[in-house]
Amino acid sequence: MRNVIIIGSGPAGYTAGLYSARALLKPLMFAGYMSGGQLMLTSDIENFPGYPNGIGGPEMMLELREQAERFGLEVQDKNVERVDFSERPYRVWVEGREFRSESIIICTGAESIWLGVEGEDAQKGRGISTCATCDGAFFRDEEVIVVGGGDSAMEEATFLTRFAKKVTIVHRRDVFRASKVMYERAVNHPKIEIKTHRIVKSWLSDDNGLTGAVLEDPRDNSTETVECTGAFIAIGHKPITNFLESQVETDDNGYILHKKNTMTSVEGVFAAGDVVDTRYRQAITAAGMGCQAAIDAEKWLEDQH
Ligand SMILES: Cc1cc2nc3c(=O)[nH]c(=O)nc-3n(C[C@H](O)[C@H](O)[C@H](O)COP(=O)(O)OP(=O)(O)OC[C@H]3O[C@@H](n4cnc5c(N)ncnc54)[C@H](O)[C@@H]3O)c2cc1C
Repeated sequence: MRNVIIIGSGPAGYTAGLYSARALLKPLMFAGYMSGGQLMLTSDIENFPGYPNGIGGPEMMLELREQAERFGLEVQDKNVERVDFSERPYRVWVEGREFRSESIIICTGAESIWLGVEGEDAQKGRGISTCATCDGAFFRDEEVIVVGGGDSAMEEATFLTRFAKKVTIVHRRDVFRASKVMYERAVNHPKIEIKTHRIVKSWLSDDNGLTGAVLEDPRDNSTETVECTGAFIAIGHKPITNFLESQVETDDNGYILHKKNTMTSVEGVFAAGDVVDTRYRQAITAAGMGCQAAIDAEKWLEDQH
């Protein structure tokens, strides 16, 4: 029987672990098979306070883990398979074994949706990113592609014009899901070119990184090659909530909804980080929310006794 079980080991999970361990709650974390979370995929983090020279994603996550473990966070690198929040104490199952806890903090993050085309895996987190705020500054005076037709794609493209020499938006249709204002801001920008009726067929690269994309027009299967040294996929994110089997309330896209501070629709079950965040999706905001969830859990537990 635990006071707190934390599910997920990104910046939100480790910060929740640090705070609840320092509050002497003896937290147990299930870190997941992808221990460390999304930042394990990236080589340079320049926007997390405290690292004046930047830091590699995996190194930073190891440091966050070490810091939380120093205060007593217990970590198991395993996935939670299912949960039962219908009565207290709450139950979670991990590799067939049942664990019980008074409170739960869900920090399972979100996955960016990738295109899954040839040449992509080799450039993920290098020349190809899913976060312009995170990686845009690495492409100063370079030519980049943004894939997508929604508000995020327009926002990413407009943001990238601060750094890139040229931004090409590639969209599979000629109708845009983006709001009119966002679309017009992008279409009227002198550095942005929009290519409609194009899908990325494959990515091209050499030893130095990404060099271009082969685009196909699905109407007649004709192809063209566009040079670029950076690409940003902006076709959406998917929160990782399937193992919850709808036991906490989510929005239509599966993002967990907060009801009171960081508490979900279930009393004593809290959520933090990208699994609730449709807007900021940054390491520092996830870490901040992990801190809030740990403090909320601590206060809630205090009120119960
Ligand atoms: C390529 C890339 C580069 C980025 N660069 C930056 C950057 O430079 N700066 C920045 O601020 N942000 C950056 N981000 C965004 C940042 O990574 C996220 O905002 C942040 O990681 C979110 O943290 P989180 O704790 O909410 O979730 P995540 O980091 O996504 O962690 C989720 C955790 O949950 C675990 N998990 C999932 N399902 C289960 C389960 N069933 N049981 C147990 N565990 C589970 C996973 O194993 C993982 O450990 C980048 C993202 C990407 C993809």
